[in-house]
Amino acid sequence: MEDSVQIRCTRCKNVFRDRAKRLQNGYSRQCPSCEIVLFFDEDSHDSNIKRAMRTARRVRNELRDSEGVITRRAAGAPRQYGGRSASNARGNEEADDD
Ligand SMILES: [Zn+2]
Repeated sequence: MEDSVQIRCTRCKNVFRDRAKRLQNGYSRQCPSCEIVLFFDEDSHDSNIKRAMRTARRVRNELRDSEGVITRRAAGAPRQYGGRSASNARGNEEADDD
């Protein structure tokens, strides 16, 4: 699972990556190339920052969802699979994952 997000530096346009979990309002870090400090805020005027924030939010949601799946599996209860052959005639159980 990819948990990092591409960020394009406002000044030098260098592209680097940082963890999605860090990229939240108030976070700041230096560009590894030109060492300008970038401030991350969802209301930033910088479209590069805004896009990185949006991407980070989506990645965090996906990570949380996948962790939830793992937790449910770890908890056992494979009962979904019990009566599958009879009730699965339509075969579209997977169709609703957006
Ligand atoms: Zn830079």
